[in-house]
Amino acid sequence: MKAYRKGIEETISSHAVDSQKGLDAKQVNYNREKFGNNSFETKKKEPIWRKILISLNDVATIILLIAAVISIVSTYIEGTGHYFESLLIVGIVIINSILAIVQEGKAENSLAALQNLNRTQVKVMRDGETALIDADDVVLGDLLIIENGSAIAADARLIEAIELQAEESALTGESLPVEKDAHATFEPEAQVNLGERVTMVYRGTTIVNGHGKAVVTAVGMATEMGTIAGLLSKESKTVLTPLQRRLVQLGKNISWIAIAAAIVVMGLGISQGMDLKHIFLTAVSLAVAVVPETLPVIVTMTLALGVQKMARKHAIVRRLPAVETLGTTNVIASDKTGTLTQNRMTVRKVWHNEKNHLSLIADGLDDMAQDVLSLATISTNVSVKTVDGEQVYDGLPTEVALVRAMAAKKSRDDLLNMYPLIDQIPFNSTKKRMTTVHRNPSGGYIAITKGAFDVLLPMIQHGDKDKATAINTTFGREALRVLTIAQRTFTDMPENPTQAFYEQDMTLVGLVGIIDPPRVESAPAVEKARLAGVKTIMITGDHVETASAIAREINILQDGDQTITGSELAKLSDEALDQNIQNYSVYARVTPTDKIRIIKSWQRQDATIAMTGDGVNDAPALKAADVGISMGETGTDVARDASDIILTDDNFATIVDAISEGRGVYIKVRKTINFLLSANISEILVILIAMILGWGSPLLPVHLLFINLVSDGLPGFALSREPLLTNVMNEPPMAKNTSLFAHGLARQIAINASLFGIVTLAAIWIGQNVTLGGLTANANVSQTMAFVVLSLTSIFHVFNIRSNKSLFTVKYSANPSLVNMALLATLITLAVALIPLTQSLFGLTFISLGHWAIIIGLSLVPTIVIEFLKMIQPNLFKV
Ligand code: ATP
Repeated sequence: MKAYRKGIEETISSHAVDSQKGLDAKQVNYNREKFGNNSFETKKKEPIWRKILISLNDVATIILLIAAVISIVSTYIEGTGHYFESLLIVGIVIINSILAIVQEGKAENSLAALQNLNRTQVKVMRDGETALIDADDVVLGDLLIIENGSAIAADARLIEAIELQAEESALTGESLPVEKDAHATFEPEAQVNLGERVTMVYRGTTIVNGHGKAVVTAVGMATEMGTIAGLLSKESKTVLTPLQRRLVQLGKNISWIAIAAAIVVMGLGISQGMDLKHIFLTAVSLAVAVVPETLPVIVTMTLALGVQKMARKHAIVRRLPAVETLGTTNVIASDKTGTLTQNRMTVRKVWHNEKNHLSLIADGLDDMAQDVLSLATISTNVSVKTVDGEQVYDGLPTEVALVRAMAAKKSRDDLLNMYPLIDQIPFNSTKKRMTTVHRNPSGGYIAITKGAFDVLLPMIQHGDKDKATAINTTFGREALRVLTIAQRTFTDMPENPTQAFYEQDMTLVGLVGIIDPPRVESAPAVEKARLAGVKTIMITGDHVETASAIAREINILQDGDQTITGSELAKLSDEALDQNIQNYSVYARVTPTDKIRIIKSWQRQDATIAMTGDGVNDAPALKAADVGISMGETGTDVARDASDIILTDDNFATIVDAISEGRGVYIKVRKTINFLLSANISEILVILIAMILGWGSPLLPVHLLFINLVSDGLPGFALSREPLLTNVMNEPPMAKNTSLFAHGLARQIAINASLFGIVTLAAIWIGQNVTLGGLTANANVSQTMAFVVLSLTSIFHVFNIRSNKSLFTVKYSANPSLVNMALLATLITLAVALIPLTQSLFGLTFISLGHWAIIIGLSLVPTIVIEFLKMIQPNLFKV
């Protein structure tokens, strides 16, 4: 029989699971052996040869390879035996793409490793204990503990469902939540669709209301989701971030420039009667060398490193583009509880309505406080365990505070034995209250409602409302969160009791004032954000007085800033909200739906807004925000799934750190563009100008490819490890869609490329015209000089772009791999030019010491000029 048709008892017995204690360790092992674990089969990896083919799949590279093969064949036919150059071309192109693949593979692996941090954990009952386990470790027969906001890890038959609603759109396409019922039955013949199987919860769906328990009836590929998992593993295309996409576009644009340059070079060569094969290879090599293919790889590495760093700082990136968006964020809308505050709630004060008495908990728990707290305590969902002799509380922090305060006199269990639980309507942030119903020791029933003061006040019939209002305001001003406790007793329980029935004719019991101090990091982080041009706003379900008191303490609310409540917000038109949005710093008593209005209004001002959220109802807002941030410690699975970033420490300060990382990524990408394009453009300049001046082709194809691979490639990869040498949080954020070349980058590249071009052309001219050390000037000498000068200037340039201050201000330890790579590239260049074998392979010749002195001098000129310009005009070289 299908799992959903089985009765509760039958489900429990057929899986031999204890409905209270869950499976024991032996059963877990046995079921895992027999039925497997809960993971999906993962997709196969691309084989390396395919990756190489894909990476070679670029028009200029293909033309170059074809040209090289043609030249090998024609050399064979001619019988001259000069294969080297063509073979070297093929070799360099292949090494280049292997290098890119290896680096990209590394970056992807580290990103994949981070995905593991992002695994869903599920609550199960095993051996009588609740345990949080990896979703993959769930086995058949496991007893799932389902809470509001849980993600369901496997298909399971409900054995208990309290107000349980599941959102099953991932499976059924239906976006409205489905009401679940553990006791429902089905007609034997009736066809029951997935969406109608209300006795079940399914893998891949989420709980949006209520709570319950369920026995796992299918795991892994046997789940309903598993059957469509085949489709899932196919849709594994990597999504590019906006920055990556812009760089791909940039690469394409440069390709056009490269192709145009190649055509001009060909034309010039032919008109000057050069050897056709040679000029063709030169032109295509130029095109290949000029396109910065390594740029996207370096960006992926930079992103991967940024993501790793963020993970170390407690921010787990779920969607890569968020890293970049963080860099442009100028508004952070943060929850109060747990993010700006410690979420260590402690009951401070209790007011007793009937006795009109205010108790300070620090003075001990008097009878009046006990009256109020005992009712508040039984109206919670807190479980208490003793671990190593200590009481461990599991539940909402507000509720834990109540139970813990009362525990000095009586435990929750003892109280519940006196007042057995009959029914409950759970808390949610929209209703801002909850009600539990108990058998009354003195006969009949008692319904206890606790919740926000302003929500309960209109519902309360008996009690001193004026006094209570005054107490509520005082508590709020002292930054206390206020819980209002009300009750109603009745003798008969109707057949179908409703929430309205429980919550009528209520009597005020008292008010509880709970303190939740701000985190020590919050005030400095708010200040740091402000200096960085990022406004922090507080969005909270709490009362406006409480919220303002905390906001003032951490400087979110300053002179001139305004507060607004959810009901005031409801009265504002979108236009009015837009006009004033910049002034509101605190939004109190808002519901999760209000968050969307706040986001949209900021977005209409062209702001980039990051928003935090932890509850089920926060999911739409997390999706609507430019960066949705969820909480790893206290958040629900639903919120985590909807978010771009998870804070593993729930701490506001982490968001500010992540913003600085995001900005850093952008700066590193700009540095990389500066490095690669300056050198590449100078290559075009050198070849074109030399040919226009009738100096012949000044560099061989292998020279261009070598510079691309070694002089640009080696230091370039190390740039992704470059630390942030400037304080990126001293300036306002960049506007969305700012050009990659904005803020003077294009000008810097133009200056650099011209300097490199001038010194290389000077080297060519000297090589062709000046007799030195007994060596007559000739084309070979000039090629050797041009090659070494271009290679060295390019390598030295990596030091120029690190900071807009002198290169000597940057220590070796800042990025040893960059210095080492530059050194290695220099050594390889010198080796190629000096060792007779490589000399002849690269078509170079032996040159005199005088030539070497000129080479070194010329190669240093750009760096010296740039150092000088930095001294007089540092803004020109802003990074
Ligand atoms: P945020 O995390 O967005 O800052 P919050 O956590 O302060 O918001 P909620 O948890 O939605 O906001 O709480 C709003 C109000 O609901 C509180 O001020 C309190 O009066 C009441 N409340 C909170 N928790 C409970 C609960 N467990 N039972 C009954 N009422 C509660």
